[in-house]
Amino acid sequence: MSQLNHYFQEAFQQSIKTGPIIFMHWFWDENMNPIDFVSPNVEAVFGYSVEELTSGKTRLIDVFVEEHQAIFISNVKTHIENKDTFWYESYEIHSKDKQIKYIRTYSYIQEEDILSNMRSVYTYVIDETALFQQLNEKELLATRYQVAIENAEEGVWEWDTELNHVFYSDDWKKMLGYESNEISNTFKEWEQLMHEDDLQNAKTTLEQYIAGQLEKYESEFRMLHKDGTYRWILSRGKIIFIQDKHLKKVMIGTHVDITEQKNTAALLLKRNEELEVLLKQIKELSITDPLTSLYNRRKILEELEEAQQTVKYTKESYSIAIIDLDFFKRINDTYGHSVGDETLKMFAAFIQINVRGQDIVGRWGGEEFFIIFPETTDVQAYDVLERLQKNFAKNPMLIKNHSITITFSAGIAGSGVDTSVDEMIKQADRALYEAKELGRNLIVKYAKKQS
Ligand code: GH3
Ligand code: MG
Ligand code: MG
Repeated sequence: MSQLNHYFQEAFQQSIKTGPIIFMHWFWDENMNPIDFVSPNVEAVFGYSVEELTSGKTRLIDVFVEEHQAIFISNVKTHIENKDTFWYESYEIHSKDKQIKYIRTYSYIQEEDILSNMRSVYTYVIDETALFQQLNEKELLATRYQVAIENAEEGVWEWDTELNHVFYSDDWKKMLGYESNEISNTFKEWEQLMHEDDLQNAKTTLEQYIAGQLEKYESEFRMLHKDGTYRWILSRGKIIFIQDKHLKKVMIGTHVDITEQKNTAALLLKRNEELEVLLKQIKELSITDPLTSLYNRRKILEELEEAQQTVKYTKESYSIAIIDLDFFKRINDTYGHSVGDETLKMFAAFIQINVRGQDIVGRWGGEEFFIIFPETTDVQAYDVLERLQKNFAKNPMLIKNHSITITFSAGIAGSGVDTSVDEMIKQADRALYEAKELGRNLIVKYAKKQS
């Protein structure tokens, strides 16, 4: 027994040197609080040595932070008045090197001391600074998180894949018009409020992210609002916890209502489509002759440039024809301008129908037309024009009860390696002039030696 006592003595001696519990014996005195005994491990927490604390130079009260000094005094006073024999409290102190520390005190007064007015107090002190800071950090994090959730105007959800339990924040529910108690914490709620056209896609995206096939979870879908309308929701989230060989995953995420953006985007898309149609129409108009709907002179010139470029590397010759209706003025003079217009339209349709698909037909101006024959020699073009001439002569046109008989003349020119587009047009014009000179209703092919 005495041996055991000896060991306890040793253990106690050791623990008051380096252990976590500081022993202290002091006398209650509103001003002084002199310390009678304090264990040597006090220095590690308070920063003051045993001598400094017991010599009376540093009072117990001096160690407390200012706002806790009065609290400490008032607490002890109350306990003594209440004749408490044991109490525990927490205080903030600053150590000798000005560090803030959090201590927990357990104080004890013997009953007879209270009765005899001997204010002799035994106090154990534990340093809880590390614990307090840890708690504080967690609390701070939780507070920050709470603040973030409440102010983000975003709904927050947290999904436990194992339990299939989902926490939906109040703002999540409010976004869809629901009160806190109207939505339960199940995965089903999310599925049930989802637009049926978006459900499959939304589930697949989520599954792929959970399975690790997607680096990021971001999904857009429509959800049914309590008012019966659908809202576009942008959902983003992240796995924050994985346990038991991936059996359990916890994912946290947010919901943002993007209906307005979606509507604006849809409107913009529609406007863009309309603009595109308009642009196409404008482009069409810019290359079309309004009366005959054939290409206009500008487009023919463009096509000619292209044909000329092509010839440079294919070495395939092409030909052009300028067609002019004979004595057209007479049609106008005899039947009126509108019959003249109809005649031009019908003639335009006639040529368009009677040439090959790759041939390019346009209105050159007034009663003049233009044909580009790709990969065609001037001799072949001449044959085509002759055929046209014959066919045209076969059937007089019937316009507003007038049977109109009209002929045309044409000048043909074939491409040459060194002939420019301008030169070719001049050549075809010269051939046309010749056809007119020779009496009209004629096709003339430009002959090089002619110049
Ligand atoms: P030629 O055989 O020498 O070509 O005789 P022409 O009468 O055809 O030639 P001219 O150049 O003297 O007259 C062309 C006429 O074509 C004059 C003009 O009134 C008519 N014309 C030009 N453009 C149009 C049009 O868009 N509509 C109508 N109705 N007539 C037009
Ligand atoms: Mg003319
Ligand atoms: Mg004419």
